[in-house]
Amino acid sequence: KLLSGEQLRRALHNRIQELRGNIRVYVRTRPFLPTDGTAARHSSIEILPDGESLTIMGKHVGEGHAFKFDKVFAPSTGQDMVFEEVSEFVQSALDGYHVCLFSYGQTGSGKTHTMQGSGNGAMRGIIPRAVEQILSQALSMQSQRWTFTMKASFLEIYNEELRDLLIMVNSDGSIKPRDTRTAPKLSIKRNADGKSFVDGINMVDIDVTNRTNGMAQLEAVISAAARARSVATTKMNAQSSRSHSVFMLQLCGINDESGTTVQGALNLCDLAGSERLDRSGAASDAKRLKETQAINKSLSCLGDVFTSLANGSKHVPFRNSKLTFLLQDCLSGDGKALMFVNLSPTYESSNESLCSLRFAQRVNQVELGKATKHVQYGGKGSSSVRPTSK
Ligand code: ADP
Ligand code: MG
Repeated sequence: KLLSGEQLRRALHNRIQELRGNIRVYVRTRPFLPTDGTAARHSSIEILPDGESLTIMGKHVGEGHAFKFDKVFAPSTGQDMVFEEVSEFVQSALDGYHVCLFSYGQTGSGKTHTMQGSGNGAMRGIIPRAVEQILSQALSMQSQRWTFTMKASFLEIYNEELRDLLIMVNSDGSIKPRDTRTAPKLSIKRNADGKSFVDGINMVDIDVTNRTNGMAQLEAVISAAARARSVATTKMNAQSSRSHSVFMLQLCGINDESGTTVQGALNLCDLAGSERLDRSGAASDAKRLKETQAINKSLSCLGDVFTSLANGSKHVPFRNSKLTFLLQDCLSGDGKALMFVNLSPTYESSNESLCSLRFAQRVNQVELGKATKHVQYGGKGSSSVRPTSK
């Protein structure tokens, strides 16, 4: 049977991705903000014309560190341009891949701006744009006899505990935000196929046959989750920057003609702030200390998983944190992962930015599907880096 132009293009894209390895790292530097203060607006980050390399200046005269990634976005890069560079990646969830996008970086570096964005226009981030694209594509594939089902959920990992951000209210499927302080803890299990799932989480059935209904349902999920997060923020000392949030879309497709089925997933993950523990003050606050330790643990577990994959280790420590256990399917086998490293341009942030870049360099060594091959570490310090302080 002949493939359509679109199918051919995507098959080719997937093949190229396989050849290049299934983990990408994109760096995004945000512009200066009014809140950055009045000091000379001299960026600590210099992006090279190839769009893949950057140099970060340290606090000492002449201190510079060079890095190379899959892509480096300048501060002027808009939300639409960023999405253009991930849209194929997002799309492959419809081809049966388990896809995960992360945003990693210190608080205030632009993670939520990248993932969620704001408003209904040009500032929308990856989540609203991705759901729109997936829904359109699923609809258009009906003409090729593909029928999709789609389920959406939204959760938060705080202090190594998983909480649903949504409550399903009525039989009409209306959705409410959850008060995360009182939500029951959820656990991750594995199904008969060996895939991870969250036991008891609310999954909202999305109407894939009707664009207006489908979009309204997805928007309801996203806005209920955003409200659940912002309630927690005001009541709990900016909890949203101390927790990971994960938007999950499960996709099942069946071709009515051939009987072929595909099962893919799209996970969009806004990680907790990667900043190291502030030695002054924070340590005296027991609650804050616990939060910081939980974040450090899960981010360093994520780093350890990437390192194990890069080294071709037989044992990959997926189970050492909730985040890696949850996203295990995206980090192995037919998984694809893309990490945004968000950076602030200020000199005050240059130490944190350097830590983020070194963490990302570790991620960049990994090629899924080639886990048996030994990869030699290059960059200095890249094998011993932790996103955390001692
Ligand atoms: P984080 O989630 O990493 O803590 P945010 O996404 O909340 O950071 O970003 C901090 C502030 O910077 C917000 O006011 C956000 O709107 C702004 N911001 C971040 N990235 C950009 C960007 N690329 N362009 C314009 N404003 C940005
Ligand atoms: Mg944020």
